[in-house]
Amino acid sequence: MGALYFMGLEPHIRPMTTKTETFGEIADSRSWAQAMGRGMRKKCPQCGKGAVFSGYTKTQPKCGVCNLDLSGHQADDAPPYLTIIIVGHILIPVALAVKQVFEPALWLQFAIWLPLIIIATLWLLPISKGAMVGLQWANRMHGFADSSTQDKTDA
Ligand SMILES: [Zn+2]
Repeated sequence: MGALYFMGLEPHIRPMTTKTETFGEIADSRSWAQAMGRGMRKKCPQCGKGAVFSGYTKTQPKCGVCNLDLSGHQADDAPPYLTIIIVGHILIPVALAVKQVFEPALWLQFAIWLPLIIIATLWLLPISKGAMVGLQWANRMHGFADSSTQDKTDA
């Protein structure tokens, strides 16, 4: 590099600019993994501190810490869909395996699996929804298209 500089070639061989330096929009990139992780902890995908939900799965209109407008998400039926897939693929095979191996009484199977499936479903639903909101925010989907650092005070 030093030799090239003295040969007058320096201006032509500039170090490659990273994409973050070149494109402003990429510099403001959002990590989907981090956003989904924050959402799974029911925290705001942007700051990771404010709560996403005001109720069980009811999202806040905006983050109480960073003021991110959370009303733009469209998780819709993706969280229940995801919850059904996860619970169905984990608990149902286990229930079937236990039935095949131990052949417990029917009442015992109901007593074990029914509460477990209900608890797992209720536990996973807000986690799935938080992850979905985080994923949508990270990908600027729906109402998160231009919501980087919002300081909106109006509702
Ligand atoms: Zn926030």
